Formats: sequence, structure tokens, C-alpha cells
Amino acid sequence: MKKYVYCFDSQGTEGNAKMRNLLGGKGANLAEMNRIGIPVPPGFTISTAACVEYFKLNNKLPYGLMNQVQEGILRIEKNMARKLGDYKNPLLVSVRSGARISMPGMMDTVLNLGLNDKSVIGLAKETENPRFAYDSYRRFIQMFGNVVFGINGVHFEKALDKKKEEAGAAYDTDLTAEDLKNLVERFKQIFKEQSNKAFPQDAWEQLTDAIMAVFRSWNTKRAADYRSVNKISDDWGTAVNIVTMVFGNMGDDSATGVAFTRDPATGEKRFFGEFLKNAQGEDVVAGIRTPQPISKAGRSSEDQITLEEELPEAYKDLEAIYKKLEKHYRDMQDMEFTIQKGKLWMLQTRTGKRTAMAAIRIAVDMVEEDLITREEAIMRVEPDKLDQLLHERFDPKAKKRLFGVGINASPGAASGVIALDPDKAVTWAKEGKSVILVRTETSPDDFHGMVAAKGILTSRGGSTSHAAVVARGIGKPCIAGAEKIEIDYSNHLVVSNGITLKEGDEISIDGSVGEIYVGSVLTGSSEITAVILGQMKPEEASMYSYYDKLMTWADDVRRLGIRTNSDTPHDSWTARKFGAEGIGLCRTEHMFFEGDRILAVREMIFASDSEGRKKALDKIRPMQQKDFEDIFKEMEGLPVTIRLLDPPLHEFLPHTNEEYEELSKRIGIPVEELMRRGQQLKEVNPMLGHRGCRLGVVHPEITEMQSRAIFTAAANLIKKGVKVIPEVMVPLVGLKAELDDQEQIIRRVAEEIQRETNIPFEYKVGTMIEVPRAALMADKIAETAEFFSFGTNDLTQMTFGMSRDDAGKFLPLYVERGFCRVDPFQSIDRDGVGQLMGIGVEKGRKTRPELKIGICGEHGGNPQSIEFCDELNLDYVSCSPYRVPIARLAAAQAKLKHQK
Ligand code: PEP
Ligand code: MG
Repeated sequence: MKKYVYCFDSQGTEGNAKMRNLLGGKGANLAEMNRIGIPVPPGFTISTAACVEYFKLNNKLPYGLMNQVQEGILRIEKNMARKLGDYKNPLLVSVRSGARISMPGMMDTVLNLGLNDKSVIGLAKETENPRFAYDSYRRFIQMFGNVVFGINGVHFEKALDKKKEEAGAAYDTDLTAEDLKNLVERFKQIFKEQSNKAFPQDAWEQLTDAIMAVFRSWNTKRAADYRSVNKISDDWGTAVNIVTMVFGNMGDDSATGVAFTRDPATGEKRFFGEFLKNAQGEDVVAGIRTPQPISKAGRSSEDQITLEEELPEAYKDLEAIYKKLEKHYRDMQDMEFTIQKGKLWMLQTRTGKRTAMAAIRIAVDMVEEDLITREEAIMRVEPDKLDQLLHERFDPKAKKRLFGVGINASPGAASGVIALDPDKAVTWAKEGKSVILVRTETSPDDFHGMVAAKGILTSRGGSTSHAAVVARGIGKPCIAGAEKIEIDYSNHLVVSNGITLKEGDEISIDGSVGEIYVGSVLTGSSEITAVILGQMKPEEASMYSYYDKLMTWADDVRRLGIRTNSDTPHDSWTARKFGAEGIGLCRTEHMFFEGDRILAVREMIFASDSEGRKKALDKIRPMQQKDFEDIFKEMEGLPVTIRLLDPPLHEFLPHTNEEYEELSKRIGIPVEELMRRGQQLKEVNPMLGHRGCRLGVVHPEITEMQSRAIFTAAANLIKKGVKVIPEVMVPLVGLKAELDDQEQIIRRVAEEIQRETNIPFEYKVGTMIEVPRAALMADKIAETAEFFSFGTNDLTQMTFGMSRDDAGKFLPLYVERGFCRVDPFQSIDRDGVGQLMGIGVEKGRKTRPELKIGICGEHGGNPQSIEFCDELNLDYVSCSPYRVPIARLAAAQAKLKHQK
């Protein structure tokens, strides 16, 4: 029979940390902790394979599973000298989900399982605490009802509130044992009304139902949404952990909490965590009560109690355990613990989620502590997350009006309109608004709203609340536990500091310091960016040295060159500061719109013959030449790839009557005539129409003008001693003849200018590979081209036959339904587009082994695509300036992966 159940207890351990695919993260780590002698309550894990099988069998438990579960339970019963559902010595267990990759709060858990009308009496007697026993029982009925039968928690909450009113109790804790006993009866009634079924008294039935419900929670909408955002496979299924209950709510010598071996927000090396006295674990995670710091050092105000002082023995044990765990796993751990009557139990350990800032600092510190290697450090920072570090920060000089303060749960700064519910956040974000999701606390049902929002603010909960954990995971700024803020959902108001804001009003949050401001606050560059761009001294920025170290290590490792897509001197300057090693794509069309130039461009378009066009182009040339000079200067000593004009000419046409009239005056052609010609320039399919090299083929004057501007700029600078490396790139080539035609013009002009100026210079002529035919004919095209640059935006568009401008209407649905795993315009479709690229590289290099090949489509800044480019042995990737650091790191990771 297939083995589904893996036990861990004092008799031994069947699993280990490496078995995460089979046992889920939680199960594998419970086993590992047990194995290395850390106190874990006895239990067992049902494998993810059982869950997968359960779905295959159409929601039926696989054959033999429950026999193994029974043996597992027997083993715990022996170990603990207790029995499930027993009157005297009842065993209670938790039934927890646990996937291969942590999905915080997305799936279900049932606690206190095994309680029934009999065992509750046993529990009351044994603990001499009937209040505790009935409190646990009513929690269990609610949780079981909710998780297994989908009964809305509101029904139970209402009954609880009513009971409190009757009893004159302000808090749950004011209810007596008798009150709770009555409440249990009421809860059982509610259960029956809502499910048409009596609350099951048989512990075995409870257990079977709970296991199936946890399996099913893999497929809830929120879990599926989470997986789709985090690119987690739907096929893995969840494991189920069945663990002896330990109680943090057994009185003042009991507690429950969450701790991190280092600070997950900043990465600082300090033991950091929160706890609640006399509470159950879910209370911390749900953010219902604001927890207290575990250590004295972590205290932010004098009135906070700490675990260190309240339960010093248990705290000491916890300290020893966290050190052992971090050393063992060689990474920052996020742990859950419970202290039952002074005794510490570990309920979970996992690699802690962290902000980009923390990821970098922890990785660098751990190298310096000799815990990990430089290569490991490089692999530990998600390149995409660097975005967080490079963009955010309120301008320190901006005027701010304080609205409130809270816990700085996830760094970064964001401004936006207040949305009080997740659906509204999604709707407004779709309308293009920047949204801050404001909630008392968040739950997994709010996940879609959190993803849509620019930032998250909650009035309850701490740094380990759902809001905080999820925000850090998705890289959004978050402030939690801003307790002074009152949120009035029914009147759509948020009140604090004597100020009343309406839903839809603007607010700003600084997740790095925990401050909330009224209105929108201007953002400035982040600390790291400020240092990179020379606006701040490195020694003034706490994080810069960590960032710099990691990036230097990455540069030492990577093989791929990193260039940038830039068509202004300022962007070129920025990109160079970020580490760009050249320009991979300088689009020239944007230059045509600037200032008065557009008039000359229009003059060129409407000229009736080549002479007229030349005259107009002569006006543009000096301006274009100046553009290139400025860019070459910024990029001194580095290659600059300039692409000839690409878009269809109609993009430059006048839009309004006034513009037509202005042009008419300038060139002396009547408005009606101009409009008629303008009409003729409109195309049915402009993306596949008269654009790219087809412009230069039909109007060679354009190529001639641009080549003159490029080479004159180069010659002028060389004369001044500036090292210039121009590369002229012909767009949208599909036929070798097209490239030959253009190349001949470019080379002729280059010769002429060298002769005219008497200044020799080197240059290259190459082409974009963005038409599928060009990839297939790369051997022929490489006879002429000295370099290739994959224009994967167009190549994807043309390979799929999907317009890059219109795909938004259907592509998201394709991704949602799994037709494509990811949007091919964001991450290269390896199977199709990638295959064409492979052919292009192979055939191109066959003809010309030294052929330089890069990529300049948007994919050039996408880490997964960069990995693919490394596999294809491209020479460089080119991306927008702010993505250059991301590309540097991604390129290093790609190399390390391939070395393996
Ligand atoms: C491309 O097609 O990938 C490209 C870089 O060119 P553009 O986006 O300007 O069409
Ligand atoms: Mg293109």
C-alpha cells in the first residue's frame, strides 16, 4: 500500500526538511525540528500525494489512507497517554494545511478537534479550568462549522455578541464558564440550522471531515488567486498536519507567538517577534488583538509587556532554539510557538518572507558570518523585488500633514485613494486609480484587493498579521495596527487625529516608518537610488553598502552583458549610473516629436517628391545630430545601438484642425489637400504596414538623413577625443534584400562622412530580429548583419499573431485559464518565440561566429526571460534604466543556475 502518513514523535521521525514536495513546508519542517531535538508536539503529516489522489478520485479519500491515519492517531495516543474523544483523558489535535510553498492564511485549519459533549468535561476536569474547556469547545464548533460546512462566522459572532450583552461582559474574557457552556449549546443549534446536520460527536467523524475539508481548501478561490499571482502550480495539492494540541490560552503562564530570527522588514540581525499572553495562535495571525514584543530590545513603548520579562524561562529556551534553527537552516526563520503552562513548544518554522531590503541585508550579513557563500547570497534575492528598493520613498522635502501612525510592517511609500473594501480597490485600480486599501484587519478573502492596491493600511494587528505578511510577500508598503484610526465601514469614513476622510479621498502611507499622511505626497527616489544618482552620500544611506556588495558579487559572476533602452541623454545617464554597459536600443521616433521638430517631420511626410522630403529632412538633421552627440557623450566608451525610424508615418500626422492649419501656413499646401493626403496615409493594419525598414526602402532620404546625423555626431565627438562606438540597427527586416538595401545607404554615408571630416571611425551595421522570417533566415541575414538584436515585442506579436496593443482584451483570460502559463509579452514564450530565437542564434552564428546578439524587447528586463537568454548564449540583454540592476542580478542567477 502507498505510504501517505509520516509520523514525528519521541519514537522517531519519518520525514525530513528535504521532503517538502511530499510533506509540504510545514510538515517537512516539523519533522526536521523533531529530528534535531527541538520540542514539537507529537503528530503526523498526510502527504500532498494523498490530496492529489483525493481530487483524482473526485473528492474521495484514497484507499488505505484512513487506516494509516488511525495508526498515526494510535501512536500519538500511546505517546501522550490520551485518547481522541475520550471522557477522561481526551486527546485534542489540530488539523492544518501545509503546501509545498507557503501560502499564508490561504487554506484552512481546524483546531481543538476531538472535543465533544463528553471530552469537554474531561478537559475541564483535567485542567481544573471549565472556562478554558468550554471556550475551546465553542471555538472548535465555529471553526469546524466554518471550514467543513462553510457556515458563515457571522452567525456565531452574533450569538457571541448577544451572550456578552446578556452577561454584561465587555470582552470575551469576561464570560464565565457557565456563559460559555450555554454558548456551546447555542453554537450547536446554529450548526444544525445552517448545515441541517447535528454537530458530530464522534471524534473520528470530525477528523475524517476535517481532513477532507483541508484538502478541499486547496481549491478555494482565494487560494487559487494566490497561486496565480505567485505562479504556483495548481497541481501540487496540500499536505495535512495532524498535531497534538498545545494551548497558549491556559492562563497567564501560557502564551502564543510568532518570531523571526532577523528583522523581516529591514534585515537587521536582531531576534524579533510578537506574542499574546493567554491566547491561541490564530489570534496573533488574525490580527484581532495587537500583540506585544517578545524581547525588551524590541519594545517601542514603555507600557508594552515582553515575553522576556513575563516568562523568562520559556524565553531563554526560545532564544536557544532560534539560534539553533537559523544555523541549521542557514537562513532567516519565521517560527510559531506556543507556551503551555510555562513549557515551550515549536509549531512551525519556515524560511521567513522578507522585503527586498531585508533579503539583501540578510544575504550579505550571512556571507560575512560565514554561514553561506556569495553564490548562495546572490540566489537569495528575487531580482524583481529590487524594484521596491529603487523606486519608493516620499520626498523628504514634501509637505506632509500627519493623519496617524501605526506599525511599519512593510517598507515603501505609496499614495492613493482610500478603498474600504477589496472589490472596490480592484475596480478603482482597473480604472487606473492608485488605491490604498484601508481595513480594520485583512483576511485571505481580501487578497485580490491587496494585489490591486498600491499600499495597505490596517487599524489592528501587528507586524505578523495577515496584512503584514502578505504585503511583504507581494512587495507592497503596509502599515498595520494604526489603532487610533477609526474605520466606519457603514458611513464610508476614516477618522483620526481630528480629521475625517471619506472613502475615495487621498491618503499616503510610509511603510518604512509607519506614518500616514492626508492627501497625496510627492515621492522622491529611494535611498539607494539617491546614492546611485549622486543625490546622497553612501555613508548617509543605511542600506547602500549592502546593495553595492551584492551587486558587485553579481557582476563578478554574470556572463551576460547588460545594456539599456534609452533615447534621451538623461535616461542614458541614469542607466549608466545603474550599471548599464551600453545602449541596446535607442529608438529615434521619440526625438521626432520634440518641440518644433514635429512640424519639420510633417513637412517631410507631406512633401510631394524626394526633393521636398530632403528639404524637410535637412531641417531635422542638425537637431537629430545634437541628440546623438549628447547620448554618445553620456555613453562615452560604450556601444550605442541606434535604431532607424520604425513607426508608420501616420503616427506623426496632425490631429486637430488647428494643427492642419498651422502646417498649411508653413508649407503652403491648402488644408483640404493636406487632410486628403493624411487620409491616404492611414492604414488598415499599421503594425504590419508601412513601417520599419520599409520606410527607408521607400524613402531612402530618411535613412540617409539619420545615418548622416549619427556619423556626423560620432566624428564631431571623436575629434574632441571622446570614444564613440556607434551601431546602426535596421528594424523589422524580414528579407535579406531589405537589409542589404539599407546597409548600402548606411555604409555609403559613413564613407562620405569619414572622407568629408577626415576622421576615421569604427561602426557596425546590424538588424533587429523581430519578424519570424528573419529568425528563420538568420544565416542569410547574418551575411550582411554584424549584430542581431531580438525585438521580442514584435517577434511575440507576430509569432502569436496577437496584436500587442489589443491582446489585453483576451490574454488575461488565456492566462487565467492556463492556455498560456504567463503573459508572453512579459515573459518569453520559450516553446514558440523561444524556438525561433534559438534558430536565429544558431543560424546567425553559423554564418558569422563572432555575430553579437542581444535582446531589446521588454523581455530584456524580465528575470525568467533573462535566464533563457543566458541559455541561448546571447551576448547581452537590454532593458529600461530602472530595470538594469534587476537584470544584473537576474543574469548572475541565470549563470549560477546553468553552472549547476
Ligand atoms: C520590439 O519589437 O521588441 C522592439 C524592441 O521594438 P518596438 O517595441 O519599438 O517595436
Ligand atoms: Mg519592434
